[in-house]
Amino acid sequence: MTRLAPSPTGALHLGNVRTFLVNWALARKLDWRVLLRIEDLDTPRVKPGAIEDTIDTLAWLGLDWDVGPEIQSDDLSPYRDAMETLATKKLIFPCELSRTEIEQAASAPHRPEGSETRESVYPASLRPAERPADFDRVDVNWRFAAREGAVAFDDRVRGAQSIDVAADVGDFVVWTKRGQPSYQLAVIVDDAHSGVDRVVRGDDLIASTGRQLMLYRALGLEPEPMYWHLPLAVGPDGRRLAKRHGDTRVSSYRASGVGAERIIGLMASWSGVTPDPEPMTAEQFAERFDVTTLPASDIVFKEVDDAWLHSG
Ligand code: GLU
Repeated sequence: MTRLAPSPTGALHLGNVRTFLVNWALARKLDWRVLLRIEDLDTPRVKPGAIEDTIDTLAWLGLDWDVGPEIQSDDLSPYRDAMETLATKKLIFPCELSRTEIEQAASAPHRPEGSETRESVYPASLRPAERPADFDRVDVNWRFAAREGAVAFDDRVRGAQSIDVAADVGDFVVWTKRGQPSYQLAVIVDDAHSGVDRVVRGDDLIASTGRQLMLYRALGLEPEPMYWHLPLAVGPDGRRLAKRHGDTRVSSYRASGVGAERIIGLMASWSGVTPDPEPMTAEQFAERFDVTTLPASDIVFKEVDDAWLHSG
């Protein structure tokens, strides 16, 4: 089983759609079941209606799913259970230091190269001498004591990977003081509980995979998923597609009369399905999709693409 895991924080933009569409087409080609999971934890405040809008947009594009939608915030007990297990194994500890305090205390504060994450490196030297055996406070950040050494895995797109979590981020947050699991914990608890063994997502999350596999192993969860980390859509400046590149939200195109077949048609040209944009349905995209012709480098969204979307 695979999953579509949108965060309902802003409307889906063309970059998200590209990842979801390739994920969904792979599932249709290779006979995987699809779960829709709404990741509404550890994100900025979710606006009313955002979850419904996200689901509606995916359906409008022609995507479907076999299971869900599952909404993370509906039940926090699986995450608390995982925290209990980690505490019993003495692998986590509460941490009340601010980011500034951590950066000042770390001898060589740095962020992983090219990383957009805002998490500071938390060095092992800042760990408390004793780690509690109980998860007894939900209102503070809890960190996972990252093991030294590389976490290795084989990415189906990017090949062999080796990630040094301790050096990249150190002891990372697994529970936030807002009383919720962090993204890293929530995603692995959910994937393991739902039987997700195929993860397809943007390659901005490849560094997170080291943390997630570490948690899988610490909790003894199986099977570890296979990963496909896809190149992202970027703006003409080479940065990940975002607001700064104009309004590429699907809802805005839809409101201005652009049809789903145009959006899928642009994605076809971004996914090795056609050399140039060509209107088609999601079904037709899936029929023609071939993972071996998926572009290996980032896709650049240009003004001509926007013009083509509006020209139908
Ligand atoms: N919810 C995340 C996002 O929208 C995806 C997380 C994942 O695929 O692991 O970026």
